[in-house]
Amino acid sequence: MGLEEKLPSGFLLTTVEEVAGYARKGSLWPATFGLACCAIEMMSTVGGRFDIARFGMEAFRASPRQADLMIVAGRVSQKMAPVLRQVYDQMVEPKWVLAMGVCASSGGMFNNYAVLQGVDHVVPVDIYLPGCPPRPEMLLNAILMLHEKIQQMPLGANREQAVREAEQAALAS
Ligand code: SF4
Repeated sequence: MGLEEKLPSGFLLTTVEEVAGYARKGSLWPATFGLACCAIEMMSTVGGRFDIARFGMEAFRASPRQADLMIVAGRVSQKMAPVLRQVYDQMVEPKWVLAMGVCASSGGMFNNYAVLQGVDHVVPVDIYLPGCPPRPEMLLNAILMLHEKIQQMPLGANREQAVREAEQAALAS
């Protein structure tokens, strides 16, 4: 019989890491950052019909210093790329990036010199969401998947360093 089964009801066993993960995933603050048509779908998640407030996320922040999630909603032009990176650098750690739509994920149909062929050329991406545009339900689903990732994240982990190490390991193999 496990320890939890021996305890009287009303007892809850957990770890600090699990509590921190639970709090983090339930209080994500996205940066206000829409780039193209996908942003219209992102904005609609805030309305009453899709109600992103259910997940504690209705407070889109105008300052990146108050945000920990960047939803890249739309194509990224080459000129915009350094600005996007600067916004990302100003966000607080730990922070996450969601590439919304085929344009942000891979350049999509804009296979030309003016458009970045995937936002992962300038920032590490946690979740890629396909579609043109993805519907608000799809965005909410991607956010819930990100929540699971955040819940598993160890305390004190430097996500960007982990991404860099994974890239170096992939190059070395
Ligand atoms: Fe617009 Fe489609 Fe590109 Fe989204 S994926 S920015 S809807 S063209």
